[in-house]
Amino acid sequence: MPDKPETSAITAGRDASRSLAPALWPNTVWESESLTDATRRATGLRSETFYSRFSNPTVTQFEDAIATLEGAESALAFGSGMGAISSVILAFCSQGSHIVAQNNIYGATLSFLLGPCKRLGIETTFVDPTVAGSFAAAVQPGRTMLVLAETPSNPRLSITNLEELGAINGPFTVVDSTLSTPLGQRPLDFGVDIVLHSATKGIGGHNDALLGVIAGEKDLIDAVWAYSVMHGASPSPHDALNALRGLRTLGVRLQHQNTSALTIARSLETHSKIASVQHPFLESHAQHDLARQQMRYGGTVFAIELDGDFSVCESFVSNLRIAHIATSFGGPETLVCHPATSTHVGLPSDELESLGVTAGLLRFSIGLEDADDLVDDIHQALAAL
Ligand SMILES: *Cc1c(COP(=O)(O)O)cnc(C)c1O
Repeated sequence: MPDKPETSAITAGRDASRSLAPALWPNTVWESESLTDATRRATGLRSETFYSRFSNPTVTQFEDAIATLEGAESALAFGSGMGAISSVILAFCSQGSHIVAQNNIYGATLSFLLGPCKRLGIETTFVDPTVAGSFAAAVQPGRTMLVLAETPSNPRLSITNLEELGAINGPFTVVDSTLSTPLGQRPLDFGVDIVLHSATKGIGGHNDALLGVIAGEKDLIDAVWAYSVMHGASPSPHDALNALRGLRTLGVRLQHQNTSALTIARSLETHSKIASVQHPFLESHAQHDLARQQMRYGGTVFAIELDGDFSVCESFVSNLRIAHIATSFGGPETLVCHPATSTHVGLPSDELESLGVTAGLLRFSIGLEDADDLVDDIHQALAAL
C-alpha cells in the first residue's frame, strides 16, 4: 500500500547528502569546466548547476517534494503564487487565445485576466463553477487554451467538481489548489493537467516564504519552464528552504487547524448575529457531498456573514483579542479579513455582489492556537456588539 500523504510530506524531497535538513544553496551561478561545458549547461532543459534562474538545488528539493505529494512527474517553483499563475497563462496563450475561468477566482488572477491578458488580446469567459457542465460549455474548440479553476474558492469557499474538469479535452485544465494544500486533495488524480499552489499559504505555513509551485506531466512542466526562465518570476532558495521546512509539519498543522476551523464554524452557525457560515465540511454547505468526495480536509479557512455592514464588522474585529487583522492564511496565527475592502477592494460593486462578497462578510484563517480559546474569543466579540 502506498504511504499516506502525511508520511510522504516527511519522506519526499530528500537529496543524496544524508542531511536531515535541506541544504541552502544561496549562489546565483556555477562555474563551468570549459567553454564546451558552459554551452552544455546553457542549453540543457532545466539546466542544473548553471545559473539560479534556470534551477537551484534547494529549489529542486522543494519541487521534488511537491511532485511526489501531487502524484506528478514534475514540479516547478516560482517566486510567488502569482508568478506561477502568470507564467502558466503566458506560456500557453498568445494573441487571440481564449481562456475559460471560474468567476470567483483569486482577486489578483482576476485582475491579471481582465488587465494584462485582455490588453495582449487574450480573452476570458467567466463561468459559475457551481453549475454542472459550465466549464465544458464555454470551451471554444481550437481557440481555448486553458481552463482555470480554483477549489475551494476564496473567500466564499465554493467547490469546483474536479472530475468534471478532468474530463475536459482540448485545453489544458489548471486547478489552483492553494486552499486545500497537496495533503487536502489531488486534482491530478481526477485527470486535471496542472495543479498550482501559492506555497506562501499553508505549505510554507509560517508567513516567512513567498513562493508558488505547479505540478503535472513532465512535458507540460518543461514547456512552462522554457517560458518562465525568460519571465523571471524565479523562486528564492531561502524561501524554498523555509517552504520545505514548513512542508514537513503540514500534516500535523492541517489536522489541528482543520479540526479547529470546523469546530469554530459549527459553533457560529446558529448565532443570532450571524447570517451564514461557509466551510466546505459543514453539512449546511451547498456542495458538502462533493467536498467530502474530493477533499481529505475541509480547510483552515471559513467565512461568516455578519448581520450588518462594514461598521459592524469593524466593531466585531476590534473586539477580538486573539485574531490578527491580516490577509493570507495557513500560518500559525489566526487571521481575520474583510474581503470587500481588502482582498477584493477595487472590484465594481455589482461584481462583488455576484461573488457574494458582501459588506458583512469576514474571512477567518484559523491558526494553531487552542480551539476553545478561539471559540471563547469570537463569541465574546459577538456578544459585545
Ligand atoms: C495567495 C493566493 C494566490 C497568490 O499567491 P501569492 O503567493 O500571493 O502570489 C493565488 N491563489 C490563491 C488561491 C491564493 O490564496
